[in-house]
Amino acid sequence: MSKKLSSKKLEKPVKFQTPRGVHDILPEDHAYLTVIKKVVRHRARQAGFRRISTPIFESKDLFTRGVGKGTDIVEKELYSFATKKGGEEYALKPEGTAGIVRSYIQHGMNQLPQPVELYYIEPFFRHDRPQKGRYRQFHQFGFEIIGEPDPGIDAQIIQLAHLIHADLGIAEKLTLQINTIGCPKCREKFTDQLRDYFIGKERNLCKNCVRRLEENPLRLLDCKEEDCRILAENAPKFANMICDDCKDHHQKVLELLDAVEIDYTENPQLVRGLDYYSRTVFEFWDESEGAQNSVGGGGRYDFLVEQLGGLPTPACGYAGGIERIITHMKDSRILAPDKDQIDIFVAQLGFEAKKVALQLLTELREEGVHALGALGKASMKDQLGKADKFEVKYALILGEVEVREKKIILRDMSSGVQEVIPIGKAVEKVVKKLGKKSLDKYDPSKELKKDTRVRPEEELLIRD
Ligand SMILES: [Zn+2]
Ligand SMILES: [Zn+2]
Repeated sequence: MSKKLSSKKLEKPVKFQTPRGVHDILPEDHAYLTVIKKVVRHRARQAGFRRISTPIFESKDLFTRGVGKGTDIVEKELYSFATKKGGEEYALKPEGTAGIVRSYIQHGMNQLPQPVELYYIEPFFRHDRPQKGRYRQFHQFGFEIIGEPDPGIDAQIIQLAHLIHADLGIAEKLTLQINTIGCPKCREKFTDQLRDYFIGKERNLCKNCVRRLEENPLRLLDCKEEDCRILAENAPKFANMICDDCKDHHQKVLELLDAVEIDYTENPQLVRGLDYYSRTVFEFWDESEGAQNSVGGGGRYDFLVEQLGGLPTPACGYAGGIERIITHMKDSRILAPDKDQIDIFVAQLGFEAKKVALQLLTELREEGVHALGALGKASMKDQLGKADKFEVKYALILGEVEVREKKIILRDMSSGVQEVIPIGKAVEKVVKKLGKKSLDKYDPSKELKKDTRVRPEEELLIRD
């Protein structure tokens, strides 16, 4: 339906509403969601990624260990619950990477040809303070490449995200912010220096940063509070501490981005709010309104697989916020294709006409025409009024006389011109008028094949 729902039409105050911070995705917005999913799937398949879904909830411990104890996500935003008899604690997934790494380990994906390339389009949950463009249930698409340390992987993931933004018409608004946070070896020295620098300056730091100083001084660098930012500007620079391997890796990522002509801004302040990153971190920002509005980000996480119980395995990933991308598309006045249009309305009067109308609707739909019919007892005037509201191109009108004479009226809804045609020719005529391009045809039987391979149990029988 193309018509917007108007809240004025509500007669009584509504009894139930969506909880704070969550929202319905109404049909108008699904048009955006659909095109985003399509673009993501298309670009992912082109680059050899396969889709994965992990459960909505998992062991809370997975997220505390994976995402990191000192992070906002785990500390303040995790939705967790315990099973009835005080059993294991679970949490709704706040992000995609921890679950996918768990799955990689659990299913022995290290036996597959490496690297393993996976993508997802899923809902996630964070008990965030609700604000514009931020929800407690939100959707992300993302990519993970597990099993390869080469900087080419980092560049490829960034390029993939960029191509998706370009396909959706928002790439020009976004700048790629990139940084390296090194490996545990060089980062540890740096965090020590940072801690030394900030100690004694606590009274100029925000409450969060005082706590971060203990847990993860690196995160003081991306605090948005002004006082913290001023201090951060004069803090020791990682560029002076980075080890040769990390420096070389970062340089190669940048050179590869140059090679595929992707612009970037080097941002030494960028550290990302999650613990699992190492080396490359990046975000796509919209800076048009002054604020740092990130639509997505990612980076390398070479130590997470091992940290979650697997073998040492390098990896890199990206996640994009679908709701934020939709907001950007709308701000850029990009319309998502509306595939829900209704082409034909079949109006009828009398029970005999209703039978014929049902047959016609069936035939039209089989031919790929989006067809609606009023099967209630409304007057012809009301039915045609409805056809108008659905903005259909044509109406087929059947009264008792028409049924008797095996005729039907075809009405062009925009001009009001009508012609009487034989019922048997109606479908053919409508299909011709609409044109092949607007037909919505899908034949799953062309894709679904019978599996003719011998099943393992049958193989046993043959051997017996
Ligand atoms: Zn290093
Ligand atoms: Zn702060």
